[in-house]
Amino acid sequence: LHVAGDLTIGAEVALDEGQAHYLRNVLRLTPGARVALFNGRDGEAAAELQTLGKKSGSARVLSQTRPQTPEPDLWLLFAPLKRARVDFIAEKATELGVSRLAPVITRRTQGGRVPTDRLAAIAVEAAEQCERLSIPEVAEPVSLVDLPADWPAERRLIICDETGGGGPIASVLADLAPGPLAVLIGPEGGFAPGELETLTDIPLVTRVSLGPRILRADTAAVAVLSVVQSLLGD
Ligand code: SAM
Repeated sequence: LHVAGDLTIGAEVALDEGQAHYLRNVLRLTPGARVALFNGRDGEAAAELQTLGKKSGSARVLSQTRPQTPEPDLWLLFAPLKRARVDFIAEKATELGVSRLAPVITRRTQGGRVPTDRLAAIAVEAAEQCERLSIPEVAEPVSLVDLPADWPAERRLIICDETGGGGPIASVLADLAPGPLAVLIGPEGGFAPGELETLTDIPLVTRVSLGPRILRADTAAVAVLSVVQSLLGD
């Protein structure tokens, strides 16, 4: 379970209503049972349930069971899609180790406000399920044209380009060295003509192809992150 508090041995950690419900009614646990906690900073700890009510609970930290290990510094830049697909992207990207979910508004992006709060909640649940020890950050939406403005020079940008502008991802990224990375996926209608040219000001830009077929944006996200994760050996 993801908790906010610190995980020093002996600390009493509060559990919120959702967590109490899950432990009590889904896992049918009772005080005295052991649970695994993480806060995204201090690794994973074993804890013993102290109280477990309808609205809240508490657990006492017993020991550290896994140290905090660094996650890849990997951003996913994606054009917000319809609700269900955005949720899917947030969940799968978390499972595949991204450190930041960054919605990007492109010329053909549809839909209104990006539900960043909901994406953050999905990221927490996905991190708990896949037993990550960190939670990806969810950035506020930015426009694609504004990306080069304060782009960190050492971060390589991998653009998924379905128009044939990039080589096969495995060979293009064969020499991929660990380091700050970002992957950009376009919207359901694709990037508008000339839109990607605005990104040439970013020093390290690589276009890749994910094969001859046009993948849905959420499929493309899973495909590219799976390859990047395997190349990084993460
Ligand atoms: N341009 C396509 C069209 O109008 O049918 C749709 C774009 S596709 C649904 C959404 C995004 O997924 C693309 O902008 C690209 O980033 C990524 N993508 C899809 N298929 C891809 C492929 N074969 N290679 C690289 N990227 C791909």
